[in-house]
Amino acid sequence: MKSEDLFKESQKYLPGGVDSPVRAFKPYPFFADKGKGSKLWDVDGNVYTDYCLGYGPLIMGHAPENIIESVYEQIKNGTTFGAPTEKEIELAKLVINKVPCAEMVRFVNSGTEATMSAIRLARGFTGKNKIIKFEGSYHGAHDYVLVKSGSGAACLPDSLGVPEDATKNTLSIPFNDMDALSALIELEADEIAAIIVEPVMANIGCIEPQKGYLEFLREITEENNIMLIFDEVITGFRLSEGGAQEYFGVTPDLVTMGKIIGGGFPMGALAGKKEIMEFIAPCGSVYQAGTFNGNPVSVTAGLNTLEFLDKKFYSGLNEKSQSLRDGIRDILEDNDFNLKLVGLASMFQIYFTEIEVKNYNDAKTSDVDKFSIYFQELLKKGIFIPPSQFECCFLSQAHSREDIENTLNSMESALKVVFE
Ligand SMILES: *Cc1c(COP(=O)(O)O)cnc(C)c1O
Repeated sequence: MKSEDLFKESQKYLPGGVDSPVRAFKPYPFFADKGKGSKLWDVDGNVYTDYCLGYGPLIMGHAPENIIESVYEQIKNGTTFGAPTEKEIELAKLVINKVPCAEMVRFVNSGTEATMSAIRLARGFTGKNKIIKFEGSYHGAHDYVLVKSGSGAACLPDSLGVPEDATKNTLSIPFNDMDALSALIELEADEIAAIIVEPVMANIGCIEPQKGYLEFLREITEENNIMLIFDEVITGFRLSEGGAQEYFGVTPDLVTMGKIIGGGFPMGALAGKKEIMEFIAPCGSVYQAGTFNGNPVSVTAGLNTLEFLDKKFYSGLNEKSQSLRDGIRDILEDNDFNLKLVGLASMFQIYFTEIEVKNYNDAKTSDVDKFSIYFQELLKKGIFIPPSQFECCFLSQAHSREDIENTLNSMESALKVVFE
């Protein structure tokens, strides 16, 4: 068992044997060897149909030819210049054409950097300090937002090493609760710089905004001189060409992007209205910088991905994903499994709970032990989903009808094992 041995070895050199906590699972994570299309191979020669997809970036599947070719060409000509390139303009134009709120873009290296910078920008622009986030939302691993966080942090207490001073301006309230937000804003509007929200909460499973909720966020922020930041690191280029803001028809002031925008390479971005974005250095006085910002490798991969993403692409992908969700729903009904299937576009998850999931506390009613059995059974059958109940599953362009058929069969037998 090579993965098992490698995990023993890796734990000597890497804390917990991994470089990001969500990757560790019991008894040991498989070590990846290679990926192609919808498939991922491990070092033991097992092959998995992949619904984790690198936690979101791989909307074209693993190693898509056109992206890999274009990146090869770019690498031959250099990987970072410390000078701007024409391709950055091209990619910015593509983002601006697709994403409703985007009039200007700053490229960074990760989603974490994007949200950190967007929050600084909102504070700089409004001259206020407090921010509101939602319980169970995840906005990366920096200090301001590690309060009741989702993703890997959903199963841990708030992090050590985050000074109270760094989070005393971060207010955390339940998602989909208009009264809680109204009350908070009534109390503190003069001090609140921004609301940062995942329009679909995808780091605590997959929680959609209730009807009218995003519109409500838009109104109450406008009325109170508060910036509305959509953290679309997952939903951007996932729900539609223009992300959640296009999908739900609500335009924020600022958007943060990551994952898909880098075409499988490290990249993030923040974008928004020109008058706000021009506060960023060197144009304005909100400092933001990065050695690898807008590097030509990630930009090339991003360009070749985004160029591909049009209406037809999404209708094909979403239809395929709907057929998977329909199949899962049938399995749940046929077997009287009282679980909650959620999802939209090319996202889905099954909550191991009987109640409707509208927020973090609802999600937390899930039976994570049963979920773990489900995950392990799927893995045995060659299906890889994120190992945590509090993550979201994705489909890619590369997933075939046959993949979906096989996956449904595996899911049914996995769930039978869970409930036998
Ligand atoms: C993944 C994620 C981040 C962090 O992005 P990284 O590239 O991992 O730093 C931020 N916000 C959301 C909504 C995410 O899903």
